[in-house]
Amino acid sequence: MRYVLLTVCLILIAAASVTAAPWSRFFTRGGGRGHAENSQWAEERELGPYLIRSEFSLQDVHSLVQDLGDLQQDLEETLRLQCQPESIQIHLFQSKRSYDHYLRARWPEGMSRQALYVPGAETRTGRVYAYRQRDLETDVRHETTHALLHTALPYVPIWIDEGLAEYFEMPASMREKGHPHRKELRDAIRYQRWSPSIEGLEGKRKLLDMNGKDYRDSWGIVHFLLHGPKEARQALDIYFEEIQSGARETPLSQLLRKRIPNLDQAIIDHLK
Ligand SMILES: [Zn+2]
Repeated sequence: MRYVLLTVCLILIAAASVTAAPWSRFFTRGGGRGHAENSQWAEERELGPYLIRSEFSLQDVHSLVQDLGDLQQDLEETLRLQCQPESIQIHLFQSKRSYDHYLRARWPEGMSRQALYVPGAETRTGRVYAYRQRDLETDVRHETTHALLHTALPYVPIWIDEGLAEYFEMPASMREKGHPHRKELRDAIRYQRWSPSIEGLEGKRKLLDMNGKDYRDSWGIVHFLLHGPKEARQALDIYFEEIQSGARETPLSQLLRKRIPNLDQAIIDHLK
């Protein structure tokens, strides 16, 4: 399974330039479309808000293309948010070499990553870059989750941004019970006396502050928020409402501790 340190995304600022087809045309705009003779892309396809440019046939990643069609709805229904993507460009490369070559001139900071999300200058746009390897589909769902989430909220704290991307990177049927973080955390609880530190995660300000265990722990707390007690879910709803209001949000840890007195133990009991 994918090693999380290699797949962290990098947040940069960029301008997006392509106008996407409406979502309702998702199933009618398939198939390759014309492009320059010397284009490196074997296939370009508009699917709803996505423009997918690929160096290989999209038939090879058919299930991923289907998943992308469902991802926005899954995210909206699960988080009770409204995504408003206008244009998300997804670039798929045949190899790491090709990925590096493309990024070197554009986002050299991303070359050390296995996949990359770059927010657009407009809040409803974004770009995703990934290359063909065993975990390509997971990587694309992860980075596209960032892209969608940033169209629903004006600001996403780094730890919950990554926790949600880790959650939604799995195929829908595996999200609740199939992520390897589930076993990792069970083992950590059993053998390492692991305990959560939401306040510690809330103190992370930059992607570089997040290590592999932070990704795992963020996933664990997101899992508790989505599948734990209803009070946790209520706290998350209020947290998102506060972020959307533009006011300085109450830390999620405070909202949770107010509703769940023995929060840390409740999280351990949920995950063990
Ligand atoms: Zn990420």
